[in-house]
Amino acid sequence: MSELSARDPELADVLDAELRRRSSQLDLLAGENFASPAVRAVLAGPLGDKYAEGYPGHRHHTGCAQADAAELLAVRRARTLFGADHANVQPYSGTTAVLAAYAALLRPGDAVLAMSLQHGGHLTHGSAANFSGRWFEFTGYGVRESDGLVDLDQVRDLARALRPKAIMAGAISYPRALDWAAFRSIADEVGAYLVADASQTLGLVAGGVLSSPVPYADVVCGVTHKLLGGPRGGLLLCTEELAERVDRAVFPFTQGGPAMNQIAAKALVLGLAAGPEYADYARRTVINAQTLAEALGREGLRPLTGGTDTHLVTADARPLRLTGREVEQRCERVGLLLGTCAVPFDQAPPTSASGVRLGTAGVTTQGMGQAEMNELAVLVGRAVRAAGSAEEQLVAAEVRVMAERFPVDEPENS
Ligand SMILES: *Cc1c(COP(=O)(O)O)cnc(C)c1O
Repeated sequence: MSELSARDPELADVLDAELRRRSSQLDLLAGENFASPAVRAVLAGPLGDKYAEGYPGHRHHTGCAQADAAELLAVRRARTLFGADHANVQPYSGTTAVLAAYAALLRPGDAVLAMSLQHGGHLTHGSAANFSGRWFEFTGYGVRESDGLVDLDQVRDLARALRPKAIMAGAISYPRALDWAAFRSIADEVGAYLVADASQTLGLVAGGVLSSPVPYADVVCGVTHKLLGGPRGGLLLCTEELAERVDRAVFPFTQGGPAMNQIAAKALVLGLAAGPEYADYARRTVINAQTLAEALGREGLRPLTGGTDTHLVTADARPLRLTGREVEQRCERVGLLLGTCAVPFDQAPPTSASGVRLGTAGVTTQGMGQAEMNELAVLVGRAVRAAGSAEEQLVAAEVRVMAERFPVDEPENS
């Protein structure tokens, strides 16, 4: 970064501080992972400058031979990895992937059935603060109070009553596998499209740990920066029949020139995700999450649904007589990063999140295993109880020592 320090010392300081931050904290944020030095090298490479509106072979700009080659690689690898008829690798993010999926299938005002935000749905699944809630008529389904699992009877009843144009299956804060076949049969019964938002879990599908939505859904939305450990960005998979509509919905309908460096980096991780090393990573990530869920339960954070099938752990903080926000803040004070989530059927207003949400994608990338998950849960428990006391400094020191034991793989010149 010496070139940058000479030209812009103020910004160089920010980036240096960020490197120090991430090498001294422990990151259990559910959506985060660490991109490898190879991914970061591709992102910094020459394709970032190239304008390539359109698709390979049909660009609005000249000089696109390498842009075409990179995108064709990414598309081919995505199709092979997920067994999909068609892939579009241009979405800038998960949100724009979902936006394009809706644009391909829906008209403003259409009815859509999706997981309610209180029960784990994403902002793009009908939040009033998001385009989804503004432009479509969303109705939310949820989980059962008894076991916290998706209430498929409720999904079916709502689908029969509302005849939605699309059913969205997928969530941001739901730690369990979804029954794609059941969603498909409900969608078929009412003549709805089935959209799967697998942004959280697509990497586990690639790694063979979770069953794939691809054979069931009309359109699958995903991202490459979460479990896949790739560049920040989105991805769409669909049937041959919808290929042209999906492509047009991405460009020119919702996006302009694609980020070609991002697409090249997607090609890299989509290739790596087909290998045995990645399958092993996916398997270890889930075992780590299961171990973490159990260990957090011993610290008084009760795992929702009783455990997890994924990299996600959601837990109720109420047994500790704390809000999720308080747990999050006490943990941050010692360098432990985790997030909050709503607890379904919670009486408290949705703003005071009663739960916490954690993920094991990053710590597994760092090489941690089950022993470390137990250590992390104990650190979380101590951080929560230590708040404001002298013990807090001791916990913070232990967090730093643990972070040093598992350094993030940074490119040499960073
Ligand atoms: C992460 C996520 C998104 C949004 O992805 P961004 O890249 O942050 O826009 C959408 N849906 C689900 C289910 C997600 O997990």
